[in-house]
Amino acid sequence: MSSNSSSPLTGAADRAAATTAGRPAGQRGAIRLHNVSQRYGTGADAVTAVGPVDLDVPPGEFLVLVGASGCGKSTLLRLIAGFEPATVGDVEVSGGAPVPGVTSGVVFQQPRLFPWKTVGGNVDLALKYAKVPKSERAARRNELLERVGLDDTAHRRIWEISGGQQQRVAIARALAAETSLLLLDEPFAALDALTRERLQEDVRAVSSDNGRTNVFVTHSADEAAFLGSRIIVLTKRPGRVALDLSSTLPRTGVEPEELRGSPEYAALRAEIGAAVKEAAVA
Ligand code: ADP
Ligand code: MG
Repeated sequence: MSSNSSSPLTGAADRAAATTAGRPAGQRGAIRLHNVSQRYGTGADAVTAVGPVDLDVPPGEFLVLVGASGCGKSTLLRLIAGFEPATVGDVEVSGGAPVPGVTSGVVFQQPRLFPWKTVGGNVDLALKYAKVPKSERAARRNELLERVGLDDTAHRRIWEISGGQQQRVAIARALAAETSLLLLDEPFAALDALTRERLQEDVRAVSSDNGRTNVFVTHSADEAAFLGSRIIVLTKRPGRVALDLSSTLPRTGVEPEELRGSPEYAALRAEIGAAVKEAAVA
Protein backbone atom coordinates (compact mmCIF):
# COMPACT_ATOMS: atom_id res chain seq x y z
CA MET A 1 0.00 0.00 0.00
CA SER A 2 2.64 2.49 -0.97
CA SER A 3 2.44 4.34 -4.26
CA ASN A 4 -0.45 6.45 -5.37
CA SER A 5 0.01 5.63 -9.04
CA SER A 6 -1.98 2.96 -10.90
CA SER A 7 -4.68 3.12 -8.27
CA PRO A 8 -7.50 0.59 -8.60
CA LEU A 9 -9.74 3.57 -8.24
CA THR A 10 -8.84 4.82 -11.70
CA GLY A 11 -12.17 5.36 -13.33
CA ALA A 12 -13.84 5.65 -9.95
CA ALA A 13 -15.44 8.94 -10.86
CA ASP A 14 -17.09 7.36 -13.91
CA ARG A 15 -18.32 4.41 -11.95
CA ALA A 16 -19.57 6.60 -9.11
CA ALA A 17 -21.40 8.70 -11.68
CA ALA A 18 -23.07 5.56 -12.97
CA THR A 19 -24.08 4.30 -9.54
CA THR A 20 -25.31 7.65 -8.31
CA ALA A 21 -27.01 8.70 -11.53
CA GLY A 22 -29.37 11.60 -11.10
CA ARG A 23 -27.49 13.03 -8.14
CA PRO A 24 -26.02 16.54 -8.41
CA ALA A 25 -22.48 16.11 -9.80
CA GLY A 26 -20.78 18.49 -7.39
CA GLN A 27 -22.29 16.71 -4.40
CA ARG A 28 -20.76 13.27 -4.93
CA GLY A 29 -19.54 11.98 -1.58
CA ALA A 30 -21.16 14.83 0.36
CA ILE A 31 -23.22 14.06 3.48
CA ARG A 32 -26.04 16.16 4.89
CA LEU A 33 -27.90 15.40 8.10
CA HIS A 34 -30.74 17.73 8.98
CA ASN A 35 -32.34 17.52 12.42
CA VAL A 36 -31.68 13.77 12.62
CA SER A 37 -32.77 11.72 15.63
CA GLN A 38 -32.93 7.96 15.97
CA ARG A 39 -35.19 6.21 18.45
CA TYR A 40 -35.51 2.50 19.15
CA GLY A 41 -38.39 0.71 20.85
CA THR A 42 -41.70 2.12 22.01
CA GLY A 43 -43.35 3.30 25.22
CA ALA A 44 -41.38 2.79 28.41
CA ASP A 45 -38.69 0.85 26.47
CA ALA A 46 -38.06 3.68 24.01
CA VAL A 47 -34.43 4.76 23.69
CA THR A 48 -33.19 7.79 21.80
CA ALA A 49 -29.80 6.66 20.52
CA VAL A 50 -28.87 9.77 18.52
CA GLY A 51 -29.86 13.34 18.03
CA PRO A 52 -30.83 15.84 17.15
CA VAL A 53 -27.83 16.12 14.83
CA ASP A 54 -27.16 18.56 11.99
CA LEU A 55 -24.13 17.80 9.88
CA ASP A 56 -22.68 18.99 6.60
CA VAL A 57 -19.71 17.05 5.24
CA PRO A 58 -18.18 18.26 1.98
CA PRO A 59 -16.68 15.73 -0.46
CA GLY A 60 -13.13 14.63 0.33
CA GLU A 61 -13.31 15.11 4.07
CA PHE A 62 -11.89 12.47 6.43
CA LEU A 63 -14.40 12.80 9.24
CA VAL A 64 -13.81 10.96 12.49
CA LEU A 65 -16.72 10.47 14.87
CA VAL A 66 -15.39 9.88 18.35
CA GLY A 67 -17.16 9.25 21.62
CA ALA A 68 -17.62 6.83 24.50
CA SER A 69 -19.10 3.39 23.96
CA GLY A 70 -22.89 3.51 23.56
CA CYS A 71 -23.07 7.18 22.56
CA GLY A 72 -24.59 6.40 19.15
CA LYS A 73 -21.61 6.31 16.77
CA SER A 74 -22.62 3.09 15.01
CA THR A 75 -26.20 4.28 14.82
CA LEU A 76 -25.10 7.45 13.02
CA LEU A 77 -23.00 5.40 10.62
CA ARG A 78 -25.91 3.05 9.87
CA LEU A 79 -28.10 6.05 9.08
CA ILE A 80 -25.47 7.42 6.69
CA ALA A 81 -25.08 3.96 5.10
CA GLY A 82 -28.85 3.79 4.63
CA PHE A 83 -29.14 0.51 6.59
CA GLU A 84 -32.06 2.01 8.49
CA PRO A 85 -34.18 5.16 8.01
CA ALA A 86 -33.98 7.99 10.56
CA THR A 87 -36.94 8.25 12.94
CA VAL A 88 -36.80 12.03 12.58
CA GLY A 89 -35.04 14.29 10.07
CA ASP A 90 -33.31 13.86 6.72
CA VAL A 91 -30.16 12.04 5.71
CA GLU A 92 -28.64 12.81 2.32
CA VAL A 93 -25.60 11.28 0.64
CA SER A 94 -24.37 12.55 -2.73
CA GLY A 95 -27.48 14.70 -2.95
CA GLY A 96 -30.07 11.95 -2.37
CA ALA A 97 -31.26 9.24 0.00
CA PRO A 98 -28.46 6.83 0.98
CA VAL A 99 -28.59 3.39 -0.68
CA PRO A 100 -26.59 0.55 0.94
CA GLY A 101 -23.78 -0.69 -1.29
CA VAL A 102 -24.38 2.10 -3.80
CA THR A 103 -23.76 5.42 -2.08
CA SER A 104 -21.14 4.06 0.34
CA GLY A 105 -18.88 1.13 1.15
CA VAL A 106 -18.69 -0.07 4.75
CA VAL A 107 -15.92 -1.65 6.83
CA PHE A 108 -17.03 -3.16 10.14
CA GLN A 109 -15.11 -4.01 13.31
CA GLN A 110 -15.15 -7.68 12.32
CA PRO A 111 -14.06 -8.27 8.72
CA ARG A 112 -17.15 -10.41 7.88
CA LEU A 113 -15.43 -12.26 5.04
CA PHE A 114 -16.29 -15.62 3.48
CA PRO A 115 -13.81 -17.87 5.33
CA TRP A 116 -13.94 -20.73 2.83
CA LYS A 117 -12.99 -18.47 -0.06
CA THR A 118 -9.53 -17.21 -0.85
CA VAL A 119 -8.46 -13.60 -0.29
CA GLY A 120 -8.80 -12.99 -4.03
CA GLY A 121 -12.15 -14.79 -4.09
CA ASN A 122 -13.57 -12.44 -1.48
CA VAL A 123 -12.52 -9.40 -3.51
CA ASP A 124 -13.80 -11.01 -6.74
CA LEU A 125 -17.20 -11.39 -5.17
CA ALA A 126 -17.29 -7.71 -4.22
CA LEU A 127 -16.32 -6.77 -7.78
CA LYS A 128 -19.10 -8.99 -9.10
CA TYR A 129 -21.62 -7.27 -6.79
CA ALA A 130 -20.25 -3.93 -7.98
CA LYS A 131 -21.09 -5.10 -11.53
CA VAL A 132 -17.50 -4.90 -12.75
CA PRO A 133 -17.38 -6.84 -16.05
CA LYS A 134 -15.90 -10.33 -15.64
CA SER A 135 -13.09 -9.60 -18.09
CA GLU A 136 -11.86 -6.70 -15.89
CA ARG A 137 -12.16 -8.38 -12.52
CA ALA A 138 -8.77 -10.13 -12.28
CA ALA A 139 -6.83 -6.96 -13.06
CA ARG A 140 -8.88 -4.89 -10.65
CA ARG A 141 -8.65 -7.49 -7.91
CA ASN A 142 -4.86 -7.47 -8.22
CA GLU A 143 -4.74 -3.67 -8.12
CA LEU A 144 -6.95 -3.57 -5.04
CA LEU A 145 -4.90 -6.18 -3.21
CA GLU A 146 -1.73 -4.29 -4.04
CA ARG A 147 -3.34 -1.11 -2.73
CA VAL A 148 -3.93 -2.70 0.68
CA GLY A 149 -0.56 -4.45 0.75
CA LEU A 150 -1.78 -7.99 0.08
CA ASP A 151 -0.56 -8.58 -3.46
CA ASP A 152 1.15 -11.89 -2.67
CA THR A 153 -1.74 -13.19 -0.57
CA ALA A 154 -4.49 -13.57 -3.19
CA HIS A 155 -4.43 -17.38 -3.19
CA ARG A 156 -4.51 -17.81 0.61
CA ARG A 157 -7.65 -18.86 2.47
CA ILE A 158 -9.14 -16.34 4.91
CA TRP A 159 -8.54 -18.64 7.89
CA GLU A 160 -4.85 -18.83 6.95
CA ILE A 161 -4.18 -15.10 7.33
CA SER A 162 -3.89 -12.82 10.37
CA GLY A 163 -6.61 -10.57 11.77
CA GLY A 164 -4.82 -7.51 10.41
CA GLN A 165 -4.64 -9.07 6.95
CA GLN A 166 -8.32 -10.00 7.14
CA GLN A 167 -9.19 -6.39 7.90
CA ARG A 168 -7.11 -5.36 4.86
CA VAL A 169 -9.23 -7.72 2.75
CA ALA A 170 -12.35 -6.07 4.16
CA ILE A 171 -10.97 -2.66 3.16
CA ALA A 172 -10.13 -3.91 -0.35
CA ARG A 173 -13.64 -5.30 -0.62
CA ALA A 174 -15.18 -1.98 0.47
CA LEU A 175 -13.01 -0.13 -2.07
CA ALA A 176 -14.10 -2.52 -4.85
CA ALA A 177 -17.42 -0.77 -5.36
CA GLU A 178 -15.64 2.55 -5.92
CA THR A 179 -18.19 4.50 -4.00
CA SER A 180 -17.42 8.14 -3.30
CA LEU A 181 -18.00 7.51 0.41
CA LEU A 182 -16.33 4.98 2.69
CA LEU A 183 -17.72 4.29 6.18
CA LEU A 184 -15.53 2.56 8.77
CA ASP A 185 -16.91 1.44 12.14
CA GLU A 186 -14.05 0.85 14.62
CA PRO A 187 -12.32 -1.31 12.01
CA PHE A 188 -9.09 -1.70 13.98
CA ALA A 189 -10.49 -2.08 17.50
CA ALA A 190 -9.84 -5.84 17.63
CA LEU A 191 -6.23 -5.62 16.40
CA ASP A 192 -2.97 -5.46 18.35
CA ALA A 193 -1.41 -1.99 18.76
CA LEU A 194 1.31 -2.40 16.14
CA THR A 195 -0.98 -3.77 13.45
CA ARG A 196 -3.48 -1.05 14.27
CA GLU A 197 -0.88 1.69 13.76
CA ARG A 198 0.21 0.25 10.40
CA LEU A 199 -3.38 0.04 9.20
CA GLN A 200 -4.06 3.59 10.37
CA GLU A 201 -1.08 4.77 8.35
CA ASP A 202 -2.25 2.91 5.27
CA VAL A 203 -5.84 4.11 5.55
CA ARG A 204 -4.61 7.69 6.01
CA ALA A 205 -2.51 7.35 2.83
CA VAL A 206 -5.26 5.70 0.76
CA SER A 207 -7.85 8.20 1.94
CA SER A 208 -6.40 10.94 -0.22
CA ASP A 209 -7.17 8.94 -3.42
CA ASN A 210 -9.68 10.48 -5.73
CA GLY A 211 -11.21 12.86 -3.24
CA ARG A 212 -13.26 10.13 -1.59
CA THR A 213 -15.11 11.07 1.60
CA ASN A 214 -14.42 8.93 4.67
CA VAL A 215 -16.35 8.64 7.92
CA PHE A 216 -14.42 6.73 10.55
CA VAL A 217 -15.88 5.79 13.93
CA THR A 218 -13.65 5.23 16.95
CA HIS A 219 -13.56 5.67 20.72
CA SER A 220 -9.82 6.39 20.61
CA ALA A 221 -8.58 9.99 20.79
CA ASP A 222 -5.20 8.86 19.36
CA GLU A 223 -6.84 7.32 16.34
CA ALA A 224 -9.11 10.33 15.83
CA ALA A 225 -6.20 12.79 15.99
CA PHE A 226 -4.05 10.74 13.63
CA LEU A 227 -6.71 10.09 10.99
CA GLY A 228 -9.17 12.95 10.90
CA SER A 229 -9.13 16.03 8.70
CA ARG A 230 -12.15 16.85 10.83
CA ILE A 231 -13.06 15.38 14.21
CA ILE A 232 -16.48 15.39 15.80
CA VAL A 233 -16.79 14.45 19.45
CA LEU A 234 -20.21 13.12 20.37
CA THR A 235 -22.01 13.55 23.68
CA LYS A 236 -23.15 10.54 25.65
CA ARG A 237 -26.46 9.05 24.53
CA PRO A 238 -28.40 10.47 22.79
CA GLY A 239 -25.36 11.31 20.67
CA ARG A 240 -25.15 14.96 19.65
CA VAL A 241 -22.25 17.08 18.42
CA ALA A 242 -20.20 18.20 21.43
CA LEU A 243 -17.17 19.46 19.52
CA ASP A 244 -16.44 19.94 15.81
CA LEU A 245 -12.74 20.40 15.04
CA SER A 246 -10.74 20.89 11.87
CA SER A 247 -7.28 19.35 11.96
CA THR A 248 -4.31 21.38 10.75
CA LEU A 249 -2.05 18.30 10.53
CA PRO A 250 -0.70 17.75 6.99
CA ARG A 251 -2.42 14.98 4.97
CA THR A 252 0.53 14.16 2.72
CA GLY A 253 4.29 14.61 2.56
CA VAL A 254 4.97 13.71 6.17
CA GLU A 255 6.20 10.43 7.64
CA PRO A 256 3.77 8.79 10.09
CA GLU A 257 6.45 8.63 12.78
CA GLU A 258 7.14 12.32 12.41
CA LEU A 259 3.44 13.08 12.60
CA ARG A 260 2.93 10.96 15.72
CA GLY A 261 5.94 12.65 17.35
CA SER A 262 4.86 16.21 16.58
CA PRO A 263 3.64 18.65 19.25
CA GLU A 264 0.68 19.53 17.00
CA TYR A 265 -0.48 15.90 17.06
CA ALA A 266 0.02 15.73 20.84
CA ALA A 267 -2.03 18.90 21.33
CA LEU A 268 -4.86 17.69 19.08
CA ARG A 269 -4.95 14.28 20.77
CA ALA A 270 -5.09 15.95 24.20
CA GLU A 271 -7.90 18.28 23.11
CA ILE A 272 -9.95 15.39 21.71
CA GLY A 273 -9.25 13.20 24.75
CA ALA A 274 -10.40 15.92 27.15
CA ALA A 275 -13.55 16.57 25.10
CA VAL A 276 -14.43 12.86 24.98
CA LYS A 277 -14.07 12.60 28.75
CA GLU A 278 -16.10 15.72 29.37
CA ALA A 279 -18.81 14.66 26.91
CA ALA A 280 -19.10 11.26 28.56
CA VAL A 281 -20.11 12.77 31.92
CA ALA A 282 -21.86 15.98 30.82
P1 ADP B 1 -21.80 3.19 19.86
O1 ADP B 1 -21.54 2.69 18.49
O2 ADP B 1 -21.38 4.61 20.07
O3 ADP B 1 -21.18 2.31 20.91
P2 ADP B 1 -24.55 2.53 19.28
O4 ADP B 1 -24.89 3.40 18.14
O5 ADP B 1 -24.26 1.12 18.97
O6 ADP B 1 -23.38 3.19 20.13
O7 ADP B 1 -25.74 2.54 20.31
C1 ADP B 1 -26.26 3.72 20.90
C2 ADP B 1 -27.38 3.37 21.84
O8 ADP B 1 -28.51 2.92 21.12
C3 ADP B 1 -27.03 2.24 22.80
O9 ADP B 1 -27.59 2.54 24.04
C4 ADP B 1 -27.68 1.03 22.20
O10 ADP B 1 -28.02 0.10 23.17
C5 ADP B 1 -28.90 1.63 21.52
N1 ADP B 1 -29.25 0.87 20.31
C6 ADP B 1 -28.51 0.80 19.18
N2 ADP B 1 -29.12 0.04 18.25
C7 ADP B 1 -30.28 -0.38 18.81
C8 ADP B 1 -31.36 -1.19 18.37
N3 ADP B 1 -31.38 -1.71 17.12
N4 ADP B 1 -32.39 -1.40 19.22
C9 ADP B 1 -32.38 -0.86 20.45
N5 ADP B 1 -31.39 -0.09 20.94
C10 ADP B 1 -30.36 0.16 20.14
MG1 MG C 1 -20.43 1.02 17.82
